This record gives sequence, structure tokens and C-alpha cells, in this order.
Amino acid sequence: MNSKIEIMAIGSELLTPHFQDTNSLYLTERMNDLGMEISYKTIVGDDWDELVLCIQQTISRANLIFAIGGLGPTRDDITREAFASVLQKKLIFHEELLRKIEERFKRRKLSMPPVNKKQSYIIEGSEVLENKNGTAPGLWFDTGEKKIILLPGPPHELKPMFEASVWPRLKSLKKGHSIRRVLKITGLTESKIENLISDLYPEDPHLRITTLAYPGQIEIHITGQSEDSRVQAEERVQKSEKNIIERLEENVFSTSGKELEEVVGELLELNRKTLATAESCTGGLLGHRITNVPGSSNYFMLSAVVYSNEAKIILLDVSRELLEKHGAVSPQIAQAMAEGVRRKSQSSYGLSITGIAGPTGGTSEKPVGLVYIALAWNEESEVSKNLFLGNRETIKFQSSQKALDMIRRHLLKSKKRKEV
Ligand code: AMP
Ligand code: MG
Repeated sequence: MNSKIEIMAIGSELLTPHFQDTNSLYLTERMNDLGMEISYKTIVGDDWDELVLCIQQTISRANLIFAIGGLGPTRDDITREAFASVLQKKLIFHEELLRKIEERFKRRKLSMPPVNKKQSYIIEGSEVLENKNGTAPGLWFDTGEKKIILLPGPPHELKPMFEASVWPRLKSLKKGHSIRRVLKITGLTESKIENLISDLYPEDPHLRITTLAYPGQIEIHITGQSEDSRVQAEERVQKSEKNIIERLEENVFSTSGKELEEVVGELLELNRKTLATAESCTGGLLGHRITNVPGSSNYFMLSAVVYSNEAKIILLDVSRELLEKHGAVSPQIAQAMAEGVRRKSQSSYGLSITGIAGPTGGTSEKPVGLVYIALAWNEESEVSKNLFLGNRETIKFQSSQKALDMIRRHLLKSKKRKEV
């Protein structure tokens, strides 16, 4: 099948500056994994006339169509009705769907609001795609010539539905074989990475390397393709991956999709070490990220958000004289916080962050983005001075990233020391 594939993101909120259509990025990535490209994407609001026009145009161009959103119970959710109208199909009541939606509410000890009944109507001739994470069912409509797939808007509903019910059906459309690997890197800038690996960009049309930069993290996506076999696609990726890792060394923290906090968690468990954190300008973000990992209670002891000087003194025994002498944003205080939280929690490691997240509060001596991060262990410690750029949120994230990376590198080194 020579598919023209289009994605329609439906929802007026997606036309405001407050919401982004991230679902289409995900769908694009998964279609690329099948060796297929997206030819067109549209974003359209919850307006009947606009939506109907958009559906007509999309159907005239494409033969595989993903429509995202507008399957909810509220009055602005009209995707189902608009597709039925354009396709000249009836909406048919689906008894079993209603029962499932009612059950969902019952499990939460709630009765189903009458508006949700709307979600148990399906386009005549379509198949239901089960939604395990919400009330809006997906729909699969196949005219023989065209496939139309309606998916719910919330990403945590769309992704599992796509993987469980859509992907297995689309796999048969697959052109050749495609393998993708994501290398996650921290501690290097994008330009530094470019310098280190620019000669490794492939000339082989079966191999594609793309670099994506985020604050505090760079990702290199390697995609290998083969018309003949999965093994060949895998070999292409492996070779390229190996060459890149040889250049970037331990700056690559993950090749399996794992986040930095997961990698740190694994290293702590492996080394049977425990960790406690003391955070000032990140306000608990570091602890939040660490505890996002299931099983983190095995190694994470305590998180102290010590925003004020008093809190640093009372909770971590940071000395008042030291605070008065150096100020809260200083290497001395970062070190005292890390040592303090380690002592208080009797953990193997204490990790601390103190800095100026801005946008106000900076001086020429201590500008916005100045962040000290300290790691304490045994009777030793290490402090890093950082100058992060960006807004408050970005500076907070980069601080947490650097803190996690400090302990990651330390644990890697101690592993190496043991191996020697
Ligand atoms: P809906 O299915 O239209 O009721 O969408 C419910 C919610 O899903 C919206 O409020 C958005 O937050 C989210 N959403 C809808 N479409 C998208 C999209 N294309 N990308 C990411 N999130 C979306
Ligand atoms: Mg909507």
C-alpha cells in the first residue's frame, strides 16, 4: 500500500498558545518506525463547519488518517459526529460500550453522568478500539480504500490505545524493517557533540541520525532501515551506536530510553548505596524526579526542601556564621547542605542544590542561573559551580539534571575503581 498518511489534531485549545499537539509527534515517530512518512498535519478547532471542511480535505488527500481528540463527553467534542456526517454514516448505539463506560464509573464509586452516554455511539461500520485509561473509545473505520482512525486526545489514553489496538493492525503495512535507538546525553553541549561526531553522520541512506537538544539533555536518534531483514537494520544501528558511544563515552547515560533518574536509581541499587537530597532553588524537583522511579524507596531516604536560611540552619545544622559570611548561594553552603542532609539521614550520599533561579534576585557577582551543587560521601565532598541559562523552570530542571549527573558520574567512577 502506498499510503498518504495525515494527522488531524482536533481541539480549539491546540490553537491557543497554551496547549501543544504532542500526540502527532508520537504518531509520526511510530509511523516512521514502520518506514512510513507523514505527508500532512492539520490542527483544527472544535468548530463544526471548520472541522467538516478539514475532514473533507483530508479524506480527499490521504488514505490513512489519524484524527486525534474531540471524542470526549462534552458538547465541544464533535469529532465522531463530524466524521459520520462527512462519511454519510449513521451513529449507532453500542450497548456494550455503554456498559463498559458505566463500569468505569462504578469502579470509582461514581454514577455515570448522562453526558457520557454520547461516547457509546459509534460510526456505522467502524470497530471500537478499547480505551483502558479513559471513557472515550477509539474508532477504526476502514472503507477498503481508506483507513480512518479516531483516537482520544489525552496522551496517556492515546498511546496505550495506539500500542495495543492500532500498531498491531498497521504492522502489516510496514515497508521493510526499521530499528530506532535513542542515545541520551548530558554534560556536553550540542555544538561539542557535533564536533565530536560530525564525521560519523552516515552516507548510507539506510541510516539516519538526528540530534535533538533539550535543556540539560541532548538526544541522538539513530534509525536504521533494511528492506530485507530486521537483523540487518539492527546491525546498522548497532555499528553507528558503537561509534558514537566511543566518542562521547560516559556522557551517554542511556541507550534504552531510561531517564537520568532511573539510571541513577539503578546505580545506587547496584552499589547498595542510599541517597538524601537538600534543595533550595529547585524546591523539591530533584526529590520529585528521584521518586518518579518505582522502587526508589530502596535507596532514597529523605528530601529536605530548605528554601529559607532558617530552614537550612534548623533542619541541616548549616552554620549561621557560614551563611552570613558566604551567602546562601555559595559553594560553602552547598557543601554544608549536602553534608548536613547526609548526616541527618544517615545516607551514603547527600546531594544539595542552592542557586538563583530568577528572573529576579541576581547581582553582577551572583547572576541569575548561578547554581552550586554539592555531593557528600564518607568524609569527602565535591562542589560544582554552574551558570545555567533560561527561565526559572529551565534553570530548575537543569539544576536537578546536573545534580543527578554528578552522582551518576561518581557512582560510575567508584564502580571502575572497584573493577581495577
Ligand atoms: P479531547 O479528546 O478533545 O477531549 O481532549 C482531551 C485533552 O487531551 C485536551 O484537553 C488536551 O489536553 C489533550 N489533547 C488533545 N489533543 C491533543 C494533542 N493533539 N496532543 C496532545 N494533547 C492533546
Ligand atoms: Mg477537545
